[in-house]
Amino acid sequence: MLAYTYIEHGKFELIEKPKPELKDTRDAIVRVTLGSICTSDLHIKHGSVPRAVPGTTVGHEMVGIVEQVGPDVTSVRPGDRVTVNVETFCGKCFFCRHGYVNNCTDPHGGWALGCRIDGGQAEYVRVPYANQGLNRIPDTVSDEQALFVGDVLATGFWATRISEITEEDTVLIIGAGPTGICTLLCALLKHPKRLIICEKSPERIRFVRQHYPHVLVTAPEDCREFVRRNSDHGGADVVLEVAGTEDTFRLAWECARPNAIVTIVALYDRPQIFPLPDMYGKNLTFKTGGVDGCDCAEILRLIEEGKIDTTPLITHRFPLNEIEEAYRIFENKLEGVGKIIINI
Ligand SMILES: [Zn+2]
Ligand SMILES: [Zn+2]
Repeated sequence: MLAYTYIEHGKFELIEKPKPELKDTRDAIVRVTLGSICTSDLHIKHGSVPRAVPGTTVGHEMVGIVEQVGPDVTSVRPGDRVTVNVETFCGKCFFCRHGYVNNCTDPHGGWALGCRIDGGQAEYVRVPYANQGLNRIPDTVSDEQALFVGDVLATGFWATRISEITEEDTVLIIGAGPTGICTLLCALLKHPKRLIICEKSPERIRFVRQHYPHVLVTAPEDCREFVRRNSDHGGADVVLEVAGTEDTFRLAWECARPNAIVTIVALYDRPQIFPLPDMYGKNLTFKTGGVDGCDCAEILRLIEEGKIDTTPLITHRFPLNEIEEAYRIFENKLEGVGKIIINI
């Protein structure tokens, strides 16, 4: 089968590999129907994920059809259409039992697919702990509607869940890339009083205005003043930082009102400065990133009910044998790219 593979620092290649086989009684083999490209794939390519193993098939956003299951897999059957979770988790350890699946202590747990073990930019993928890692897609939900459930949408859902948003709140989301938009979609489900998006790209601003006209939009340079004017207590009650730069990290806590919650969703390339003297007295609560992707069943139900729709994010479609070109467009942010679908 064809598999897009991390060869070495800076190099991915579409190569032939044997079809994966069951290795454990809790594994499933999934025939991938759609995959996508995530910024984390680029982080692997450029060496900022030290635990990524060369030779691994990349890709951790995918949906497919269950082809084969081990004898201990009970939640899905061959023939089921499924979403695949970015995280592998045992479901039994302390962290899993508390819903902190990102910190599963099982040696195979954590972000494994497309990083340490073969992922989904390929024709087939082996999914360990399939009872936890796969969710059946409702019949009325299409593959494209379900594609982001296991990663980018799970991230937005988790981020808004831990941010304790209430209907009185002014919520500021910094960054309107795909994760920012998924965060926005999930934040809207909490019915906050106001939602403000901070974004610098004119294309992304246009996208927000077109699809979510009731959301307020500001540019980074105006953000502090805009949030102050458009909030009830001198700043946002909840800030979600989804952009991941030095400037946006600072902006996040600066735009927060005293006693606000600041949720860091973004993955930074470098350490950030945490200027405690400047923050003193603001009494902020910081929550930091690493999606706990254990809400996929609920997210699928919300999609089925028409409450979440991520399909506007899809801008490009390529077959697997043109994945090189898909990466070129994604990586260089060409043609107003949002999310790319890889048809497999
Ligand atoms: Zn990802
Ligand atoms: Zn666990």
